[in-house]
Parts: sequence; structure tokens; C-alpha cells
Amino acid sequence: MSHLSTEDRLRRLLFLVGECVRRRNEADSEASLCAAICEALTETGGYALACVGTPSIEGFQLFACSCGVDVAEPPSWEHTARLRHPMTTLELFGEPYDFGVLRIVAASAAGFEADEQAVLERIADDLSGSIAILRANAAHRQMESQLRQLSRALESSSNGVMITSSTQLNHPIVYVNPAFERITGYSAAEVTGQSGHFLVRDDLNQKGLTEIRAALRGQREGHAILRNYRKDGQLFWNELNIAPVRDEGGGITTHFVSIIDDVSERIAYEQQLEYHATHDVLTGLANRSLLNDRIAQAIARARQDQKMVGVLLLDLDRFKLINDGFGHLPADNLLRTVAERLAGCVRDTDTVARLGGDEFVVVVTDIDDADGVSIVGAKILRALAQPLSVAEKELFVTASIGIAMYPRDGDHGESLLRNADVAMYRVKEHGRNNYRFYAPEMSQMALDRLDMEGNLRRAIERDELQVYYQPILSLASGRVVGAEALLRWNHPRIGMIQPSEFIPLAEETGLIIELGDLVLHTVCRQIRAWQEAGLPAPRVAINISARQFRQEDLVEHVRHILDETGVAGSALEFELTESMVMHDIENTLLTLRDLKSLGAALSLDDFGTGYSSLSYLKRFPIDTLKIDRSFVRDIDHDADDAAIAHAVIAMAHSLGLDVIAEGVETEAQLEQLRGYDCDRFQGYLFSRPVPAGEFTLLLQTGKSIPAKGERP
Ligand code: C2E
Ligand code: MG
Ligand code: MG
Repeated sequence: MSHLSTEDRLRRLLFLVGECVRRRNEADSEASLCAAICEALTETGGYALACVGTPSIEGFQLFACSCGVDVAEPPSWEHTARLRHPMTTLELFGEPYDFGVLRIVAASAAGFEADEQAVLERIADDLSGSIAILRANAAHRQMESQLRQLSRALESSSNGVMITSSTQLNHPIVYVNPAFERITGYSAAEVTGQSGHFLVRDDLNQKGLTEIRAALRGQREGHAILRNYRKDGQLFWNELNIAPVRDEGGGITTHFVSIIDDVSERIAYEQQLEYHATHDVLTGLANRSLLNDRIAQAIARARQDQKMVGVLLLDLDRFKLINDGFGHLPADNLLRTVAERLAGCVRDTDTVARLGGDEFVVVVTDIDDADGVSIVGAKILRALAQPLSVAEKELFVTASIGIAMYPRDGDHGESLLRNADVAMYRVKEHGRNNYRFYAPEMSQMALDRLDMEGNLRRAIERDELQVYYQPILSLASGRVVGAEALLRWNHPRIGMIQPSEFIPLAEETGLIIELGDLVLHTVCRQIRAWQEAGLPAPRVAINISARQFRQEDLVEHVRHILDETGVAGSALEFELTESMVMHDIENTLLTLRDLKSLGAALSLDDFGTGYSSLSYLKRFPIDTLKIDRSFVRDIDHDADDAAIAHAVIAMAHSLGLDVIAEGVETEAQLEQLRGYDCDRFQGYLFSRPVPAGEFTLLLQTGKSIPAKGERP
């Protein structure tokens, strides 16, 4: 411009500034703005070239460019510096980074006047300022659109959202969405400005609250399931997630966003499932599984606090009569009433459970002595003594209660329940409607005569009876040549019950017939199984009771079972006792002959404890004599017993009978028996009675003792 007069130059500069301002105001983007300013500079300012360069990896790159007449557009930023005339390059400052540079090439070699240079610098500054404004506007628009999206999402979310300010004390609510209003019943207007605490009301004893408080304090994310309350007071389960919102620098937490998920239905479902798994459906009391947990917990606590736990097992007396007489529904109602009364007799911290049927258990915790439990026992009896109405009739129920105490009577649930059961049976035996503490002697006589029949019947139905086998060995060969079938009762609570405890009672009640049948069947099937497995099935001795022996069709019955199972009679041996055969000699003889005709062997059990009349025995078709355990026991150190055993064996042999010694427990006894030429023996020395599976193993391995004359 220096070729112009000062006046013209100033006028042109003025025009240029005006044009720049006009064009800047029209521009709506960085590109159009830069292009417009460059054009104003060449068209109005008359410069040879004006261009904007923006920073790039290799310096600058051409962003906008305008050329005067006769000037060709440069292909790149580098080329803009190659024009002949002087040029000025002005910085376009910006925050946080500079935008670039504005380069202007003079129209002539004279270059730029000082005032002209000053105006161009102002134009560059104005351009920087305008770019900054455009950029800010764009950022703002973007943020606004994001916010709009976000708020649409919040409004339509099915989860409640609550935003609280964390820069103020008390964390006041600044925003809640419609779902929050729907879930809680509170409107946005009601809660804005308040602290979010009102949702938990005074239900402050919640584990989840601790977690949420810690997250708020630590300004971190948090998650918990809380009991919250709606405006109408109704409880709902809130699966709450909270997250801090930090300021732009990422340092200070300004807000917390809480996402509220109403999971009441899910929790209700879970609680229902858990309830069913742990409670008795009929009465709502704890069931066996929960009871076991509770007893375990009670014991753990009592161990720590040096206290006692009382386990009361309660069985209603003659409930069966009510059930049979009135039907199930009234009986169920009665059980419910009993459950309520029981629950009313103990503290909340104690447990009342129903094991099924008419059996209940009460666990009394935190007590110092048995007296505390006596009080509960008496209280229960009193509570039950109140008349009950069943099917519109007044009824009196009583109960028998057995009590076992931790630590005295056991240190785990199973043993305590078992012993309480033993004590309970004792109560039944002694007139019912009472309670009793367990005493170790009771275990000997666990079952009550009166309940025996029902119990045994159930045992047969429930497969609680098992046949064990005790091997019988030949002294000559040292091998297993037979087995004695011995009955066991595996009672679910009492455990293994020995035959001496139930055989005599079964005999009295007549149930022995059924038991005998069961043994006969089981044994025959077992023999068959051994035979089919190719094992050397031994002859199995079966004990016959007096009542069974007098059964009219005993022999027919045995024959039938043999046919049914396909086992030969010779696979069996029947054990009888002297007292059985000494009655009604004629009939006895007939039965014995019939049994023999099946091919079975006959032996006389427990010899030495009855008449022990050998001469009499001559008349019976007996094959074997079993010397009772009581003679064998002292055979190695009691001269009398030894003499008797020796004589019995010798006389038996002279009558053509084999001899089995029972109850051989020591090597010394066995040695003595060898000396007397005893034929066979059984006893703990070689094996106790074992379940069929174990006996099968014994057959498979061919376990034996040294044969006669052989040294071990
Ligand atoms: P038992 O017929 O005299 O049976 C022998 C008893 O002596 C068995 O007792 C057996 O376990 C035991 N015993 C065997 N070896 C030894 C030993 O070395 N030492 C000691 N101390 N004992 C030994 P368990 O099994 O208790 O049977 C007792 C009785 O019950 C039997 O006496 C038998 O009279 C009767 N019994 C068992 N099972 C049946 C059955 O199925 N039917 C009938 N009617 N009575 C049975
Ligand atoms: Mg026997
Ligand atoms: Mg015996």
C-alpha cells in the first residue's frame, strides 16, 4: 500500500477493517471465517496473498487462502513463502493452544508501513478472538445436545434417579426423575432440597447403610440393597447404586448420582424360596434343616459363653388315634394349635421346630443349668393341658417330652436329638404326659413296649431292618463254611438296635412272624445272588423263634420261599432252642422232620442254657449243637467251664452231632476248642456280624485262618 498517498492508504485501511468486521459477523464456521478474512485482505486490502496456516506435524498447513490478481494459488504452506514481495506472518493466539498464523504478502516490494502493520495485527487479533468464540459456541451446542439426550434418558428410565449435591452439608437432593416419584410416591417438588435420608426412615440398623455411608465419605461408587419406605409407609427393597460426579478437573466431587431399583418382587421371591427350604409348611415352624443349623449355632454360642443348651423332643401322646378318628384336616389344625402354643412357651431367641408327624423340637438357649429347661418342659405341658377343639369337639392332648442337654448329653445336634428321643420313649413307657432328662442308662432300653409294635411295623415298611452275616469257620480247614443271619434294626434316630432289645418284644406281639419272613426272604435272595456271582455260597443259619416254630404252615411257607427264589433247602440251616423243642414233642418231631425233608440242616442254639439233656436230644433229627457263648467265655481259665465244654463236645460227637462254639473272641479260647476237637466256631476273633456287602468281600478274598496242624 506504500505506493498510495497517505490519505488513500488510510482510507483503504479503514475500508479493510470495516469489510473484515462485516465478513466476520457473517461467518458461521472457522473455515468460512478464515476464507472471508483472507478474501477481504486481497480484495479490499489489495494484498498479493493472504492465508491462514494451522499447526501440523511438519509446521503448518494451508487452512484458508486468497490470492490477488495475477497471483497463482500456492499448492502448500511452504509455497506461500516463495512469493517475491515482503510478507508479514501474524500469530493467531488461542487457549489452550494457538490456532495458527495469518500470513499476508505485500502487493509491492515496498512492504508494509508501520501504521498498516499495526492495523493488520489488530485484524489478526480479531480473527483469533472470533475463532475462539466460534469454538466455544460449538462446544456449548454439543454439550447442550448431550445434556438433552441425558435428560431424556433420565426422564424415561425405569430406575429411579436421584442427584444430590455433595458440596453442601446434608447432601440435599437437586434432581429426581419421574421413576423416582413413581417408586417412592414422593413428588420432585416435595423432596428437592431435602436430604435423601427420609427413604430409610428410622430403619437405621441395616448393613447396607454402612456401605453407602462409607462410599459417600470416600467419594467412591457404592452398592447396597436397602429397606426403604414409600410415602405411604410401605416397605420396598431398593437395590441402590451410587456414583460420585466430579468437577471438570476431576478433583472435587460435586454431586452423587443414586440409581434406585425397586427389587421388592425379587427379594420377596427369594425370601419365599428360603422360607420353604427352612420351614414346615403346615405349622410355619422351623423344619429339620433349619433346626440343625439352629442347634449348631446354639452350641457354638454356648461353647463360647460357657452356657448350656436344652433340646426338648416332644411327641404327642396317642396322636394316631386323633388322626385315624377325626381325619387329616382336623388333625392338621390340631398340630397348628400345638405349634402356636409351643412357640408361646419360649423366648424369641429359642427355636421351635417340627420334625414331621406329631414330633416337635424346642431348643432352649442361653441357660446356666437344667432347671431352666425343666421350667420350659413344665410350661409346655401346662400349655398343652388346655382343651383343644377338634372338629367341634373338646379334646385333651398330652405330650411326652425327652430332654437332652449340651454339653452333658452330646455335643452335636444328632446326638442330642437321639438322646432326647431315648428319654422321650422313657416318658411314654412311664405313663406319658411328662418330661424327662436323658440318662446314659436309658440307651440300653430305648424302646417302649407299647410303641414297639407301631415302631417295628414302620421299620419293616421303611426298610430299617437289615440282615447281617457272621461267618462260621471250620476248625479243620480254617475256612468259612457257613454264616449265621442276624437281624439288625437301623433306627433313623436311635441308631443300631440290637436284636436282644426287640426280638423278645416282637415275639410277644406276634410281629416276629413278619420279621422271620423278612429274614428268610432276604437270606434266600442273598444266597441266590452269591451263587449267581459264582461265589462259594456258604450254608446260612437262620434263627427260628418259638412262635414262628409253632406256625402251622411254617414248612409250607419255607418251601414256597425256596421255590420263589430258586434256592435249594440244603443251603439253609435252622437254629432252634431247647425250650422250643421240649414242648409238645409229637408236633415238634413232625415239624423237624418236615424241615429236614427240605434238605435243610438243624442246629440247637444256645446249648447249655436250658435243659441240656443230651439223651433227650437223641430223639430229634438235629445235626449240630451250638455251645452257648457263656461257656466259651471262660474256657481258657475256668476249669469247670472247660470241663463242661469238653464233655459236651465229646458226648455230642458220640451222638453223631457236630459242634459249633459261639462267641470265640480270643486265640486262647480257639486253641482250647481245637484241643477238644470242636468242629466249627463263630466269634469276634474272626469277624463280627457284617452287612451282606462286607460278607461278599470276605467270600471274594477267601479270608481264612490256619488249618488244623498248620502253624500261623
Ligand atoms: P444267637 O442266635 O445266639 O446269636 C449269636 C449272638 O452272639 C449274636 O448276637 C452275635 O452277634 C453274638 N456274637 C457272635 N460272636 C460273638 C463274640 O465273639 N462275642 C460276643 N460278645 N458276642 C458274639 P445278636 O446278633 O445280638 O443276636 C442276639 C440274639 O437275637 C441271637 O442269639 C438270636 O437269638 C436273636 N436273633 C438275631 N437275629 C434273629 C432273627 O433273625 N430271628 C430270630 N428269631 N432271632 C434272632
Ligand atoms: Mg443263633
Ligand atoms: Mg446262640
